[in-house]
Amino acid sequence: MTSSQNVKWPVLDSHALSQLHVSSFLRHNHAMDQIQVGQQIIRFDTDRTRKAYALMERGDAERCGCSYCRNFSAQRSTVYPQNFRSLLEQLGIDPEKEGEVYECGPENSLRLYGGWFYFAGELTGPDERVTDSNSDFQYWFADAKQYPAPAVDFGKSVMSLQFVTKLPWIISDQP
Ligand SMILES: [Zn+2]
Repeated sequence: MTSSQNVKWPVLDSHALSQLHVSSFLRHNHAMDQIQVGQQIIRFDTDRTRKAYALMERGDAERCGCSYCRNFSAQRSTVYPQNFRSLLEQLGIDPEKEGEVYECGPENSLRLYGGWFYFAGELTGPDERVTDSNSDFQYWFADAKQYPAPAVDFGKSVMSLQFVTKLPWIISDQP
């Protein structure tokens, strides 16, 4: 996505990062895991998600290739805090293959960015954001029904892991 149309920068909230709690249980005759992040509880299918990512060719930033996306992919290895990277791994998400990235314009010397990853799962808790305690990075879960269909099949129940952050402009092309 090349611009910020229809994307609102979220209202900041500032509660501390909660610990991740994981338990396994049986559902529909196969094991899904459950995790709580902040106040949100989700169930997720890591195997299903891993298989989908194995079939996905590339992330949204590479698919698009505009300067906003290239500025994002140029610093993708440092965009995500360690807590978030651990969460991606636990969910079976390939951190190189975001489902969508968007840019929301400048804020002081930085630029506001957001995006999301798709994964197989379902939401059982309220919609609430978590803020990484060491950065401005925020993330939360949202049902993916309201978003464009992912490039590969994640099954019947598709979730998104949303994030927003602020990044410098580091590529030579100007926005
Ligand atoms: Zn783009």
